[in-house]
Amino acid sequence: MDRFFVLPKTKFDLFFNKLVSTGKLYAPVAVSEKSYSFKSVIRPDEIAWQALRTILPPKKYFFKETETILTYKDNEIKEVLPESTNFSILGLHPCDLASLSIMDKIFLDYPSDTHYAIRRKNAFLIGTSCMPDEHCFCESMGTSSVNNTYDIFLTDILDKYFIEVATAKGKEFLDSLGDSVHKSDSSDESQYKTFWREREKSFKIGFKEPNLKSLMNLEIDNPIWEELGNQCLSCGNCTPVCPTCYCFDMLDTVNLDSVSGQRDRQWDSCQFTMFAGVAGDFNFRATPVERLKFWYRHKLHGFEDPYGLKTCVGCGRCTVSCPAEIDDIVGLVKVLQNSSP
Ligand code: SF4
Ligand code: SF4
Repeated sequence: MDRFFVLPKTKFDLFFNKLVSTGKLYAPVAVSEKSYSFKSVIRPDEIAWQALRTILPPKKYFFKETETILTYKDNEIKEVLPESTNFSILGLHPCDLASLSIMDKIFLDYPSDTHYAIRRKNAFLIGTSCMPDEHCFCESMGTSSVNNTYDIFLTDILDKYFIEVATAKGKEFLDSLGDSVHKSDSSDESQYKTFWREREKSFKIGFKEPNLKSLMNLEIDNPIWEELGNQCLSCGNCTPVCPTCYCFDMLDTVNLDSVSGQRDRQWDSCQFTMFAGVAGDFNFRATPVERLKFWYRHKLHGFEDPYGLKTCVGCGRCTVSCPAEIDDIVGLVKVLQNSSP
């Protein structure tokens, strides 16, 4: 399968209209001067190409904030499956795509999550290139290059988009655009390489740490945890905005007839006071210090053992969302590094 193509920007309307004709299209839209949100778009001029990080990450289209899993009446239980049709998401940056590959492992590895799997199967993913700002550190987390969790990926090369194709679905879509898309030539490829080389040089923050797992283990009693934890408000903002946070709660509601009801799943946060509370009035992580340390460990160390990966993709969403201004992962890693022998 040919993998590299170009689309002149003058033909983007055609590209857009084709996409919209296949189902709903979601893309970053400006919701204030500096905030962006993935929303349904019907016109190309609604797309905020300049958006780096949306408030909520793309996980919201696969793992819903709240949804009914089952209903029951007397002894009969009915599984409630999501109503999902084909949809596309445009504007996924490399960190977003890396986050989806992590979510895929969590929700699609055996036993897979039916709700996530149905939506994921219906999704057409369009990655787009970006230039890092002062909060991006995907390069430090190894997630700055284009991975394969996309159907097509657009790199902005001045008057064209350089398009990489990763799936048969992606190729089929490009074929449907006819002559508007053509194979890349050496000049396009050279512009593509220049773009990504420039991008690599543009990171403003970051760290080099070959073994974050060991660092996190060595520094488990570092005083920084007390310092940060004591400022934490336990508001939980950092978890819904994190593209790889997936904890949820199950809520059972019994109707007044007492023989019917439903089970709902909704996002939860390990930063909430009672997240690790259990019967007998015991709480495994009763203090903000313990909860914050737990979260950071999950992001920077947590999945090394089963999957060999960290769950932070360096998007900076937690940094810009924390009202206490303590979610500075790059700053934290530097403190830990400077404390290590
Ligand atoms: S921990 Fe923060 S920077 Fe890392 S992926 Fe989550 S929101 Fe992004
Ligand atoms: S957003 Fe900040 S203050 Fe709120 S729970 Fe997370 S670390 Fe604590």
